[in-house]
Amino acid sequence: MQVAIDGPAGAGKSTIAKRLAGESGYIYVDTGAMYRAMALYLIRCEISPDDKSGIEEACEKADISIKYADGEQQVILNGENVNGLIRTQEVSNMASVSSANPKVREKLVALQQKLAESADVVMDGRDIGTRVLPGAEVKIYLTASTRVRAKRRYDEMTAKGEICDLDTIEKEIAERDERDMNREISPLKQAEDAVPVDTSDMGIDEVVEAIKGIISDKTGK
Ligand code: C5P
Repeated sequence: MQVAIDGPAGAGKSTIAKRLAGESGYIYVDTGAMYRAMALYLIRCEISPDDKSGIEEACEKADISIKYADGEQQVILNGENVNGLIRTQEVSNMASVSSANPKVREKLVALQQKLAESADVVMDGRDIGTRVLPGAEVKIYLTASTRVRAKRRYDEMTAKGEICDLDTIEKEIAERDERDMNREISPLKQAEDAVPVDTSDMGIDEVVEAIKGIISDKTGK
């Protein structure tokens, strides 16, 4: 069983996918975390986002894998658990640029497809329904307005005591959307057979219930 959840940054993909996976006993695969781990590696190697051949060369040396601890996905980069290091703005911005590189995508898509062969999965990302798992039984395209997505991110950061500015976050989200939707390879777009869910005015429980309804309509489960 494969449930693919795609959509732009801050639409609520990971919160929703984690809840669905927990309730159904499937594994949750957060593909954005893999692109983030790769971005962290590139930052550590001091490679500029515009250095295409530098990215291609370095990405060969980044060994990325995932494991689960207490039901949470942990991303391992060259033997180091980097889960606590990949949620910064610097990593977000680098991931959004380096994920457009075909070599980076080839490597991570292969890993994602292998994971989905081994278990029932709820997988979230940008190209899961269109590229990684085109045969997924259920495809959801989760979205929300840019302002709502920025506000969610702002609330998350301020809850952690970080100082941030809502307009700057909104601008960065819009820039990431623009790059993700307009890159040449596997751009973010709704798969033809995906069901769109706009979460702008919905709470988490409401979204989970809506998606469970879609899963049950599609699969009878
Ligand atoms: O989902 P998250 O914000 O963690 O993803 C970080 C970045 O990784 C995205 O902005 C996007 O550029 C890239 N990504 C991707 N394809 C995926 C998942 C993430 O290109 N399947």
